Amino acid sequence: MYDDQVVIIGAGICGLATALALHKKGIKSVVMERSESLRNVTGAAITIRPNGWRALDQLGVANILRRTAVPFQRERVVSLDGERQQEISLYHCVGETRCLRRKDIIDTLYAALPTATVKFGCQLESIKLDPHTTKPILRFIDGSSIIAKVVIGCDGDKSIVADFLNLKRIKTFPLCEVRGLTNYPYGHSFAHEFTSFKKDNILVGRIPIDNKLVYWFCTQQYILKDERIWKDPKVIQHNTLELLSNYPQGIQEMIKTTETKSLSFKRLRYRAPWDLITGTFSRGTVIVAGDAKHVMGPFLGQGGSAALEDAVVLARNMAQLGLDHVGDAFNLFVRQRRIRVIRVSLQTYLIGMLSSNPSRLKKFICILLMIILFRNQKSHMDYDCGAL
Ligand SMILES: Cc1cc2nc3c(=O)[nH]c(=O)nc-3n(C[C@H](O)[C@H](O)[C@H](O)COP(=O)(O)OP(=O)(O)OC[C@H]3O[C@@H](n4cnc5c(N)ncnc54)[C@H](O)[C@@H]3O)c2cc1C
Repeated sequence: MYDDQVVIIGAGICGLATALALHKKGIKSVVMERSESLRNVTGAAITIRPNGWRALDQLGVANILRRTAVPFQRERVVSLDGERQQEISLYHCVGETRCLRRKDIIDTLYAALPTATVKFGCQLESIKLDPHTTKPILRFIDGSSIIAKVVIGCDGDKSIVADFLNLKRIKTFPLCEVRGLTNYPYGHSFAHEFTSFKKDNILVGRIPIDNKLVYWFCTQQYILKDERIWKDPKVIQHNTLELLSNYPQGIQEMIKTTETKSLSFKRLRYRAPWDLITGTFSRGTVIVAGDAKHVMGPFLGQGGSAALEDAVVLARNMAQLGLDHVGDAFNLFVRQRRIRVIRVSLQTYLIGMLSSNPSRLKKFICILLMIILFRNQKSHMDYDCGAL
């Protein structure tokens, strides 16, 4: 039924944004999502920085999303180690940065698509090329298969499409993150800023989304446990409270009163920057984008925005060169995006390494590279993916 179409795998931020970008350029696509409904609850919220807003502007949904979250003006780190609390103001001017509920991004992108663009309950199992036509044949776990004209793999960090392209395995930081949303029915008293609290190698972040809703996360060293316990929100909450038992009362209250269904746990993964230098990200009419291509740690808050940038650049190239030359459009996309994703992934990787208790030598090398390559630590936000 969907033979000979542009098929996008995965209805996350990247898949939906790519479908929308293509739609705006007059290219029809279908999105195959393994879940039975929109995955708009897990992951609580993400920050979108100026580069992400530029991409959302191009997609025509930025103004809708601006109404869902207040901008924040400042980033602040509070060190709780030792006797005195130490405050470091990082950025006073962070450009347009807001923390958006994932639900708002996913729902808004989805609502902007033509009806029935997304097909739920379609889990891709494998891809192979038709020996005669070299078109990709997609096989789904329910036994069905389709022959696609073009395949865009936006299927996240465990991508089947990346496996088809023989990309190297995704790596894991020795870190994990718990995320949640806390609603203060009578309003909270926090400033509109991104505050991080540091103590004992644990980082707790707090960002107001609006006057009542607050996003928080807790980044910690990963200790091998039965992964199943992290699927139960009550256990996640209990473990996090136990871990933060010596944190200020306000933080503990925030976690105690969090919306349980918003809680999630995630090990932090990345595609090694050196694999981004050498990897082949497209083959014929098959390509990967978003986390499937360049999953990165959350330390700069750029993975989602980089996925939005991918969507804009990919659709622009496909429209410019036409579907009959989609292979050329993909090669151009890979070339145009390579330096951008290597830089942002490398900066993220170095921060991740520094947060992972490295040896003195590794720490020294990471700091040296940060100084040499990322003197302007905010440059990742200045990127402009250009017009759709
Ligand atoms: C803890 C944490 C905090 C983060 N914070 C930020 C932040 O503040 N700012 C920011 O910009 N980014 C942040 N990110 C990164 C951001 O969440 C991701 O970069 C972004 O969600 C990637 O979107 P995606 O669509 O590429 O992948 P995903 O969101 O993983 O979506 C993939 C989709 O594909 C579907 N799928 C997977 N396999 C198949 C299959 N075989 N068949 C069909 N469908 C399939 C999945 O169900 C899913 O819907 C954070 C990430 C983490 C882990």
